[in-house]
Amino acid sequence: MRPTGRRRAVPAAVLVLGLAGCGAGQAAEDDGRLDVVVSSYPLQYVAEQVGGEHVAVANLTPPGGDTHRLDPAPRDVAALSEADVVVHLSGGMQPAVDDVVARERPEHLVDAASVADRGPDPHFWLDPLRLAGLGRDVAAELAEVDPDHADDYAARADRLADLLAGIDREYTEALSDCRGATLLASHEAFGYLAERYGLRQVGVAGLDPMVEPSPTRVRAAADAVGGSGARTIFFEAAAGSSVAEVLAADLGLATDVLHPIERVQDGESYPGLMSANLAALERGLVCNG
Ligand SMILES: [Zn+2]
Repeated sequence: MRPTGRRRAVPAAVLVLGLAGCGAGQAAEDDGRLDVVVSSYPLQYVAEQVGGEHVAVANLTPPGGDTHRLDPAPRDVAALSEADVVVHLSGGMQPAVDDVVARERPEHLVDAASVADRGPDPHFWLDPLRLAGLGRDVAAELAEVDPDHADDYAARADRLADLLAGIDREYTEALSDCRGATLLASHEAFGYLAERYGLRQVGVAGLDPMVEPSPTRVRAAADAVGGSGARTIFFEAAAGSSVAEVLAADLGLATDVLHPIERVQDGESYPGLMSANLAALERGLVCNG
C-alpha cells in the first residue's frame, strides 16, 4: 500500500503468518509500509536489505521451497498484482511466474535479468558484485514509489554494496591461487561464481537440479573431470546427492555441499551461506598454492 501517512496497527501474529505461510501481500497492507513481492530468496534478501523498515517483503517461494518449480497460487497472483513493487528474475528460471508477471504487468517491476547476463544461466546472485547491482535497481524503484524515503533506500543500497564487496574480497583473496581450478558441481548453478573467481565449472546435472542427468551427460562430466585434478564433487544438500555420490564413488572423489542459495530455510541468510560455500571451496578445490 502506497505510503499515505496512514498507519493502522496489525496484530503481530497475522503479520508473521502473512509473510511466510499464507502467501504474499496479505500481511502489511495496512501499516503504511510498501508491499514488495519477490519470487525467490536472493531477491527477498536484497529487497529487505534495501527497503529496511519501510517495506514488507513477501517471497512467493516458501522457505525450503523449490525456486525452479514455483507455481504461484491464486492468492500469490493477487498479491503480485496488488504489490507496490515486484522484484522478479525473468528468463525461464520460474516460467510460471514469468507468465503471471507478463499477464499482470505490475507498474513497478524490477527485473533482475538486467544483471543476469550469462545467457540461460539464472544464478547471478552467486556473484556478490552482480547482486549489489540489483540492490541499486531496487533502491531506484522504491524511491520512485516512495520519494520521501529515497535517501534512505540509496544509503541502504550503498551499505549492501559494501557488505557484498566485502564478500567479494574474501572470495578473491581465498581463491587467488585457484584460477583455472575445476569446480565439479551436481547442479550447474555456479557459472557466475566461476567466472568471477576464475574457476572452471563442470556440471553433472544441467541448470535444473531436479532433472536427472542422462548417462551420456554423466560420462561427459566424468571425462571433463578426468585429468583436471578435481578431487571433490559439490552437491546441493536440498536436492539430494544420489547422482553425485555415484559419480564420486566411480571416480574416487570426495563429496561436499555447495549451496546455490535457492532453497533457503528460515534462519539461513545470504552472507552466512556464501561464507559456508567459501569454506567448502577452500576444502575441496585443487589450487596451485
Ligand atoms: Zn538453480
